[in-house]
Amino acid sequence: MPQLSLPLLIDSHCHLDFHAFNKDRIDIINKTRQAGITRILNPGIDLVSSYAAVRLSEAYPEIYAAVGVHPNDALGYKDNAIDELRVLAKNPKVVAVGEIGLDYYRDRSPINLQQHILLEQLQLASDLNLPVVIHSRNANADIIQILADWYTQLVKNGSILVAHPGVLHSFSGDEKIAQQALERNFFIGITGPITFLNSHNLQKLVANLPLESLLVETDAPFLTPYPHRGQRNEPVYVKLVVEKIAALHNKPFPIVAETIRQNAVRLFNW
Ligand SMILES: [Zn+2]
Repeated sequence: MPQLSLPLLIDSHCHLDFHAFNKDRIDIINKTRQAGITRILNPGIDLVSSYAAVRLSEAYPEIYAAVGVHPNDALGYKDNAIDELRVLAKNPKVVAVGEIGLDYYRDRSPINLQQHILLEQLQLASDLNLPVVIHSRNANADIIQILADWYTQLVKNGSILVAHPGVLHSFSGDEKIAQQALERNFFIGITGPITFLNSHNLQKLVANLPLESLLVETDAPFLTPYPHRGQRNEPVYVKLVVEKIAALHNKPFPIVAETIRQNAVRLFNW
């Protein structure tokens, strides 16, 4: 059990179902408990990992799942995928649809297919009143346009998602994109790169974003923060991301940790 004085932490994006954790998943989860991490969101990237995420969430009380098909896996998205996701998403431990989005960097699937499956999954999210976990790489202009249109629909339909529609996971945009996201009540997900010695632009941006709009994530096993770069990432390193944000905002670590924990409660209702 964490000591009472330890600030409670969350990791709002972590892929514990990936094989990188096959050998020591339970040890990793025990370590997160000792570090005071009380909530972890494990998003799916395709149907198989969405099922795995739900299974993990059923096995561990602090793990919650998001279900969805990542743009890099769009070619594996079959016609009935959305029906399977709809059934999976009704599991009480599923708190979001994701990760979904656009990836024009890796270019593993045609752009029109990526957009098609994104739109279908955004519709699923609004049908089920679940927020979305958005992946965007080299696609910020299109992502913001699509999310703005979706958000307009949410407003028109009086959806409860208007208050907290989702998170831009591992944010890599500029100030303008951040502003457009904040205007629509999206959270901004901050990952390990904020700790990198050369990420001045991102640090400057995050220093000016309201703490009430931030989430912290590891995206483990990827994006390992400084000074552990080169090693496998794991949820306990989320502390390094919180520490960096606290330093950038010149606020005490426990206050920043608690604000961000509460942000995640507002978004995921967990
Ligand atoms: Zn991810």
